[in-house]
Amino acid sequence: MIDFDYSRATSLDEAAAQSRHPGAMLIAGGTTLIDLAKCGVAEPRTVVDITRLPDLSAVTVDEAGATIGALATMSRVAADAGIEARFPAVSEALLLAASAQLRNMATIGGNLLQRTRCSYFRDPAGYAACNKREPGSGCAALENVTRDHAILGTSDQCIALYPGDLAVALTALGATIRTTKREIAITDFFLEPGETPDRETVLEPGEVVTAVHVPASKAATNSTYLKVRDRASYEFAAASAAVGLELEADGRTIRDIRVALGGVGTTPWRAEAVEAALTGRALDEARVREAARFAVEGAKSWAGNAYKIELAPRVVARAILKVGGIQ
Ligand SMILES: Cc1cc2nc3c(=O)[nH]c(=O)nc-3n(C[C@H](O)[C@H](O)[C@H](O)COP(=O)(O)OP(=O)(O)OC[C@H]3O[C@@H](n4cnc5c(N)ncnc54)[C@H](O)[C@@H]3O)c2cc1C
Ligand code: SF4
Repeated sequence: MIDFDYSRATSLDEAAAQSRHPGAMLIAGGTTLIDLAKCGVAEPRTVVDITRLPDLSAVTVDEAGATIGALATMSRVAADAGIEARFPAVSEALLLAASAQLRNMATIGGNLLQRTRCSYFRDPAGYAACNKREPGSGCAALENVTRDHAILGTSDQCIALYPGDLAVALTALGATIRTTKREIAITDFFLEPGETPDRETVLEPGEVVTAVHVPASKAATNSTYLKVRDRASYEFAAASAAVGLELEADGRTIRDIRVALGGVGTTPWRAEAVEAALTGRALDEARVREAARFAVEGAKSWAGNAYKIELAPRVVARAILKVGGIQ
């Protein structure tokens, strides 16, 4: 049983001030934080409840794009008609995540900030070595089962996977994250583990995510999210791909393509090499399959997760062919 203080913020300023203190943690839907507290990973001294903050639950879609409040629930955003029509990859990524009950509780801000599912990270009683939990303690995963670990962006300190789906779609579509202090490109928001795996995002103490902005584009309107996993629902990705595609007027030449991967990286992984190999070229199945191999450029695998090097390019190719109307 953890003894902690509870406070309910009534304004963003209050939330920022209260969560700046060491040991203070924000709570939104609670579906990650409560799990982590139960397994002994999170030990909040103060839980700052932001669920009653006004104006953070709205979803607006206009010519410039979509603005999604940090407290909007996953299910509300997935079902928004504007999101479904103009940003299908976002809606699909949300619907393929977690379960209906979780999506009804969980928020967009909390979803982005979920922690890794590395089983050694989540079992402090069983495994003392975890550089993410306890800097300098080692990495239990490196000597154990690595099936659900990353192949891209790893370091010798940590190979934990970023598990979320939404952030992958947002990465492909060039979203930005708005906070109480600034606006951050999503590609700059998440940090690879490097020497400091305990630091996962650029957020500073007391910085609250207020919204996500997804710019409108033809590629965003013609986008999809494909997730491959061990079972058909309620499971994290073994590999996933978000793809947005715009063709020239000839209906064949690729004008704009956005590709990001999930289930393989320590962060949501933008596959710029795949995009570069296809931009300006004709959409052709053989070329797509060849270009998709660039998705795992620089990958490093272990005995348990080498299968992802084969799987990820196949998922990327399937997603591109799907939005291209070939499969
Ligand atoms: C069994 C299970 C299966 C799941 N499967 C999937 C899946 O397949 N795909 C997937 O993507 N996710 C999955 N999830 C994760 C789930 O989507 C997240 O738990 C959820 O989105 C977190 O949202 P929340 O509002 O409940 O966050 P909370 O638990 O309230 O918060 C999570 C973290 O974010 C911080 N936080 C929350 N809001 C803000 C904010 N506005 N600004 C700054 N920090 C903030 C909190 O301090 C905390 O550290 C699964 C979860 C469970 C339990
Ligand atoms: S992979 Fe990272 S999170 Fe998992 S045990 Fe190693 S250091 Fe901890």
